[in-house]
Amino acid sequence: MQREIECDVAVLGGGAAGVAAAIGASRAGAKTVLIERNPYFGGQATNSQVTAYCGFFTRGENYDQVVQGVGGEVLKKLEAYGTNIHPRPSKSTGNVSVSFNPEYVKLVMDEMLQESSVEYYLHSQMYEVVNNNGTIEEIKCTDDEGTFTIKAKAFVDASGNANLVHFAGIKTNWGDENGNVQQSSLPFRIDNMPAREIIKSDIEAALKKAKEAGISIRKETGLIVKIPDKTYGYCTIPSTVLSDLSAETMTKAEIDLRGQVNAYVRAFQQYMDGFKDIIISSSGPAIGIREARRIIGDKMLKGEEIITAPKSDDSIARGAWSPEIHKSNTNITYTHIPDNEYFSIPLGCLKVRDAKNLWAAGRTISTDSLALGSVRVMGTGFATGQAAGVAAALTLNNESYDVKKVQEELLKQGALI
Ligand SMILES: Cc1cc2nc3c(=O)[nH]c(=O)nc-3n(C[C@H](O)[C@H](O)[C@H](O)COP(=O)(O)OP(=O)(O)OC[C@H]3O[C@@H](n4cnc5c(N)ncnc54)[C@H](O)[C@@H]3O)c2cc1C
Repeated sequence: MQREIECDVAVLGGGAAGVAAAIGASRAGAKTVLIERNPYFGGQATNSQVTAYCGFFTRGENYDQVVQGVGGEVLKKLEAYGTNIHPRPSKSTGNVSVSFNPEYVKLVMDEMLQESSVEYYLHSQMYEVVNNNGTIEEIKCTDDEGTFTIKAKAFVDASGNANLVHFAGIKTNWGDENGNVQQSSLPFRIDNMPAREIIKSDIEAALKKAKEAGISIRKETGLIVKIPDKTYGYCTIPSTVLSDLSAETMTKAEIDLRGQVNAYVRAFQQYMDGFKDIIISSSGPAIGIREARRIIGDKMLKGEEIITAPKSDDSIARGAWSPEIHKSNTNITYTHIPDNEYFSIPLGCLKVRDAKNLWAAGRTISTDSLALGSVRVMGTGFATGQAAGVAAALTLNNESYDVKKVQEELLKQGALI
């Protein structure tokens, strides 16, 4: 590997949004480099065992698929590995998702990138950004051999936490108008579960009993995402609230939540019917973050607006997940989008307002806190990712962007806008 890489588009972060951004940019003709600090791609799907793709479908029994393009290809490849991708409307919320084993997401992402012309690097952490008066010139990364530089004409921040924007010294938003973010959680895998469907009300009843018996669990509601017809699944309940993303805060949170995981395992073993012999196979590896920094874009999506399912001429992706808010230990709130409806995501929500050549994708795009509760899901992340990559590729270091050209290229790439 050269220690100084030059390209057209550099993408930071290899989660749903970043992989789609890199593939979208390269299909649009840009020489593209993708950087990921983990030893695998997939983002929180693989690094935090978030094992259901939400946002691919509208809500209700008569759902439609609203994300295609790179995201649609990922679903088909998961199916080829034996994943049941038949969408499942939730009995309690009506929301529709596809659950998977994260090991197959790792393989699928590898395949997608190997089949593309993207130059991609794992084990590579971005630690510095050179921002020359609003033009991002290069990012600096580190691996176990030392440091290397990536110079690009345009950049996509798909880091989940707007790290590139933040390290460039550009202002971001954190949480709601009072600075409160949603809970972050440490998912863990449970094996030896009964094959039956696990119902939310049964989980809540068991956790109530466990709490009364003195087991120190904090959150009393949430989900076990069970893989259909199998005896394993992933529990996303152990939760905390992050005040920032410093090593100090994250260290305390990881250790605290590993303790919580142990408490939940004991609670389920003792108080869930058929869970006596469950074992914990793995946690994390890392805490999953629902809400942290978001960019300030040329436009901002507002929660109150998206729930009426608006459509706009500058749309580059469709969102369909009902805003889902985890701020309480006793309930999860949904503000429902009408059944079988979706809303437009305008291109301006992906463009960082205070930089000429910087785009955002996935959880970091420009929204208020309520709208983030919808667009943060990974199905939508694939769609905003592909759009950010295409926009970066077609714009490079020009200050203005042409929405129509981005839309035409996305349609050519099979995306839904
Ligand atoms: C507990 C929990 C449950 C959830 N449930 C669901 C669900 O059921 N379905 C759903 O669709 N969504 C769910 N979500 C939301 C979803 O997981 C995230 O919002 C989503 O992963 C965002 O995708 P992304 O690609 O934007 O970011 P991420 O998946 O976070 O990917 C960002 C990538 O950037 C990399 N990165 C960051 N900084 C650097 C750096 N400096 N150098 C190199 N690499 C870097 C990271 O390592 C990471 O791989 C859940 C989230 C949580 C926490």
